[in-house]
Amino acid sequence: MSMTADSAETARRELGTDFEGELIGPRDPDYDTARALFNAMIDKRPAVIARCSSPADVARVVGFARAQDLPLAVRGGGHNGGGLGSVDDGVVADLSPLRSVSVDPGTRTVRVGGGCTWAEVDAATHEHGLAVPCGVISTTGVGGLTLGGGIGHLTRGCGLTIDNLLAAEVVLADGQRVRASADENAELFWALRGGGGNFGVVTEFTFQAHPVSEIVGGPTFWAIEDTDQMLAAYREYLPTLPRNATGFFCFHTVPPGPPFPEEIHMRKVCGIVWCIVGSDEEAEQAMAPMLAVAEPLMHGVGRMPLPALNSAFDGLYTPGDQWYWRADFVDEIPDEAMARNADWNARMPTWKSGSHIYPIDGAAHDVGPQDTPWAYRDTRWAQVIIGVDADPASAPALRDWTIGYWEALHPYSAGGAYVNFMMDEGQARVKATYGENYDRLARAKTTYDPENVFRVNQNIQPA
Ligand SMILES: Cc1cc2nc3c(=O)[nH]c(=O)nc-3n(C[C@H](O)[C@H](O)[C@H](O)COP(=O)(O)OP(=O)(O)OC[C@H]3O[C@@H](n4cnc5c(N)ncnc54)[C@H](O)[C@@H]3O)c2cc1C
Repeated sequence: MSMTADSAETARRELGTDFEGELIGPRDPDYDTARALFNAMIDKRPAVIARCSSPADVARVVGFARAQDLPLAVRGGGHNGGGLGSVDDGVVADLSPLRSVSVDPGTRTVRVGGGCTWAEVDAATHEHGLAVPCGVISTTGVGGLTLGGGIGHLTRGCGLTIDNLLAAEVVLADGQRVRASADENAELFWALRGGGGNFGVVTEFTFQAHPVSEIVGGPTFWAIEDTDQMLAAYREYLPTLPRNATGFFCFHTVPPGPPFPEEIHMRKVCGIVWCIVGSDEEAEQAMAPMLAVAEPLMHGVGRMPLPALNSAFDGLYTPGDQWYWRADFVDEIPDEAMARNADWNARMPTWKSGSHIYPIDGAAHDVGPQDTPWAYRDTRWAQVIIGVDADPASAPALRDWTIGYWEALHPYSAGGAYVNFMMDEGQARVKATYGENYDRLARAKTTYDPENVFRVNQNIQPA
């Protein structure tokens, strides 16, 4: 009998009938489905996956992992690039049953279970004409995305996701259940807003929602050969837009299917994915200067409900692809960096690969660099490079291209990267990312998790 099979049996015995969720071990028929991560490049074999159906279940599982001296991972949506929602030969506290969403339209607040995906939050808030700032793919987990920061279409208008977090219900490493907000456990609340899963398991988030319902959005694509002039115009123009208008810059290959016009299928492009919260006239005005720079190959922009834009890429990036990630914050995009972007994207290894440059300004700049752990409040952009393909045989090519591209650009970066766009890149990168907030995070870690029980994450080590 393998050690991992033993652990699943031990969990059944030790957790007993108190545990209301489901325990899945290597001998169970749904083990392979339960352990699968969004990024199929990461193949982890946990000893036991504990699907927790209540905060009490979470506390029991944390206690079990500690008592057995097994590594513990916490799984929200399972989207993390480095596979940090799972762990080899350890215990996975899978929060996927914690899926309730309840909206209070009066206070415009939303309570969200720790295992929800953004699709569920978007659907529930949209019914009331409200939205919480989230990411650009709706299958992503609320847990990981929020605890790392949260960048998306509403960043300029409403701030990062953490800037809209009002409270969290947390299971701590010692099994205690506490609430964190500006008034209760304020240091824990500070640490949670960017410090990842280092401080506890969040079983429920409370967010401030905003009156955003319909938007004008979608992609405009230009030929990859136009990169220099488009990016030169974009880096100057985007920051001048009012906060209700945004667009992230992207490099992609036009997907080989509808709704993209057949004549541009598989063409390498640069582009902007727009999101304007306003009238059609305001949207036209916001986009016009970029449309005048060069003739686009495609302008696929229209009025739609915000959840439609937030899920527009879901069908393209389905679970089970191979992903390799690299990222950096960027203060300025000099001409040499533009040329390197153009050069590397002309050589994308697969059609699903590419790069995004997200604006970090507007409401995200209203919060000071030390107000939350998210230290890069005065940077201008967060760039991510993704090598993606369905075929496992492409993995080495994805890795080589992503690393090569990142190494070429890194000298022009601000130093650290958004934690949620990183893989497992070691302690120096984590420190660079938190900058001067790292020491305070390490002290909070000593208070809330001195034994580093929560270490399957972008780890902050106790001081
Ligand atoms: C296709 C795709 C698109 C993305 N787009 C965006 C985007 O637009 N904007 C953006 O900001 N990010 C984006 N991301 C990155 C995303 O924020 C991270 O991958 C994030 O880690 C995913 O969270 P998760 O809950 O799905 O992941 P998981 O793999 O389940 O967890 C990731 C980490 O968070 C911890 N964690 C998760 N939930 C909890 C919880 N409730 N309590 C405590 N710890 C928890 C885990 O322990 C782990 O360390 C995207 C990722 C993918 C794959």
